[in-house]
Amino acid sequence: SAKRHGRNHDRRFRPSLEVESDRHLTILNELRQALAQGSQLDLYYQTQHRLDDGGLVGMEALLRWHHPEHGLILPSEFIPLAERHGLMPALGSWVIDQAVAQLATWRSQGLNVLPVWVNLSALQLIQGDLESHLISTLNQYRVPARLLGLELTESVLLDERAGDISPRLEALRREGLQIAIDDFGTGYSSMAYLKRLPVDKLKLDREFIRALPHDHADAAISSAVLAMAQGLNLDVIAEGVETAEQRDFLLARGCRHVQGYLYARPQPADEVETRLRQSRSSVYS
Ligand code: C2E
Ligand code: MG
Ligand code: MG
Ligand code: MG
Repeated sequence: SAKRHGRNHDRRFRPSLEVESDRHLTILNELRQALAQGSQLDLYYQTQHRLDDGGLVGMEALLRWHHPEHGLILPSEFIPLAERHGLMPALGSWVIDQAVAQLATWRSQGLNVLPVWVNLSALQLIQGDLESHLISTLNQYRVPARLLGLELTESVLLDERAGDISPRLEALRREGLQIAIDDFGTGYSSMAYLKRLPVDKLKLDREFIRALPHDHADAAISSAVLAMAQGLNLDVIAEGVETAEQRDFLLARGCRHVQGYLYARPQPADEVETRLRQSRSSVYS
């Protein structure tokens, strides 16, 4: 019968579910420890470039976890878990701290005058006091606010639990911080919120770049976003540009900034530092 079937089904799957949640619990506990110690967590930086001459315009900070047994773990594997289990505001604060401290270090070496962009989770806007944490961290390290950018996805921006986010973004921009909509085009993409939200930049998602220039739909969508952004006076940065063909397509349609493997992969801070040194010497020589 269906009932017996159900019981069998339950019995068959219960053990593997337990194994799965055990694994998650283990990862979660290890992540808590890593966060408490700080030593296994790391920020990588992926540089952002002007499309026309390749010059540096900024960089995105991307979280990495060097696990003692499993090696390098990417954020897609642990951030969703951290978000579900309440670790995210703390992890997000660590990222902000780390990024601003790195900016301060580079500045003290006369190196970096380019903004570093950090990704924010919805819970950072909902819980905790994001604004005062940002401002006090920048003050503590004496880093100008214009050097910090915040990347928010459409789902974060439109999360109702965060309330009306416009005045909060406006206040952050008044302080000097920059705001970008991340993964633009993959979320709700309502044109109404673009009109209403105070943002500086759209990050055109890699999904629309991948099959350029051959895919007609992607070509149409990315062209339309670029035209619209121009009309709204918003900068667009194309994510995930891997080929010269993609770059040429975007350049021809007025896209000015780019981030992707064609230019650079996310790298540890000391490797980016080498790049910053080179770009400085090319500016001053
Ligand atoms: P994202 O914010 O959209 O970051 C861009 C992702 O695209 C990064 O993946 C980057 O390595 C990847 N990428 C850049 N250029 C290319 C390319 O040319 N080809 C391909 N195939 N990939 C490219 P990553 O570092 O694995 O991060 C994945 C996502 O995890 C991020 O997407 C972001 O949503 C999230 N994330 C990373 N760090 C943080 C963080 O500190 N806080 C929060 N809340 N989320 C983070
Ligand atoms: Mg991002
Ligand atoms: Mg993105
Ligand atoms: Mg993405």
